[in-house]
Amino acid sequence: MQVFDEKQTHPAWIEVDASQFRKNLASIRRLSQAGLLCLPIKANAYGHGLIEIARIAEEEGVDYLGVSCLQEALFVRKALIDLPILVFGAIHEMQIPELIEWGFEFTISSLFKAKLVEDACTQLKKRCRVHIKVDTGMQRTGVRPESSASLIAFLEKSPFIEIVGIYSHLATADTPQDRNTEQQIRLFRELKEHYRDRGWIWHLANSGGVLYYPESHFDMIRPGLLCYGYAPSQKWVEVDPCFSLRARVSYFKVVGKGQGISYGHHYRTAVMSRVVTVPIGYGDGYRRSLYKKAQVLIGGRRFQISGAICMDQFMVDVGKAEVFVGDEVTLLGKQGEAEITLEELSLWGDSIPHEILSAFTERLPRHLLE
Ligand SMILES: *Cc1c(COP(=O)(O)O)cnc(C)c1O
Repeated sequence: MQVFDEKQTHPAWIEVDASQFRKNLASIRRLSQAGLLCLPIKANAYGHGLIEIARIAEEEGVDYLGVSCLQEALFVRKALIDLPILVFGAIHEMQIPELIEWGFEFTISSLFKAKLVEDACTQLKKRCRVHIKVDTGMQRTGVRPESSASLIAFLEKSPFIEIVGIYSHLATADTPQDRNTEQQIRLFRELKEHYRDRGWIWHLANSGGVLYYPESHFDMIRPGLLCYGYAPSQKWVEVDPCFSLRARVSYFKVVGKGQGISYGHHYRTAVMSRVVTVPIGYGDGYRRSLYKKAQVLIGGRRFQISGAICMDQFMVDVGKAEVFVGDEVTLLGKQGEAEITLEELSLWGDSIPHEILSAFTERLPRHLLE
């Protein structure tokens, strides 16, 4: 039996430029005032490939990996990656024993959960390491600063639970000089000053914080988007994207004038045209809502998508252009001198960079380029 390497043969794929990703990490290290770097790799490392990115992070001496949930932490640890893993999300009661057994660091945001963790540790006769999440203005998970004292006191007394860090999350750091962000940083700093000399890791900065608020860096930074090469607002020249989405033309036909294309016939040919099929669709995370505006690159030229994006494919009216089956189509990233940027895709899909990237599914193989 012939064994095919699906990574080599699947006609649509993601390329991750590993050396560019390494450069991004180095640039962020240079900018950072904090000693430690936590790399968020939740949601399949923002679509880049969870294990692939975690491996590079380990090679590059990243200090922490940040994931959203137990499941992601397990994927990483079972791939034999040894870096400390911090689970950001609120913990669920039924998952507490596993979080402890596996030695993950996880987040405690309430006295209620702290007591559940204490009980589980007692039963298992095991210690655990936690980070306390304080809500300084996101109104998501996190104990309010004014009620943090009793939680901190409880955890400091616990024989089983070690406080490793205290953190918070910025809601509006994507723009420089934002009043709310300054207020969040102030609240966090006040708490830090109150609990001086405990040896805890204080961390607050997401990508916007890292780039626009040096005073938010504290002991550890947690930039996600920026490590993958995208700045939250205006371009920062020290990082570059490392993600490209590509496919190969799978079919070609000549279509007469006035013919409707794809489901609903939302597009009609103006003249007799060459129409090619591209084998990627919303089942891969290339969102259907993109179709009215999205463009792709073929042979270094931009073409508009023609008609609705299907689950597994879409069509492009290339007019009179010479495009052949097997030609490379770039949906995101560079092709020669031309480029489709993530900002453009976000605009076309009425979305944001984080959402576009994390939507790409497992059906697309990730190819690492060194
Ligand atoms: C996702 C996440 C980050 C990274 O956010 P970016 O906007 O990608 O920099 C940082 N901290 C926490 C807790 C997160 O959940």
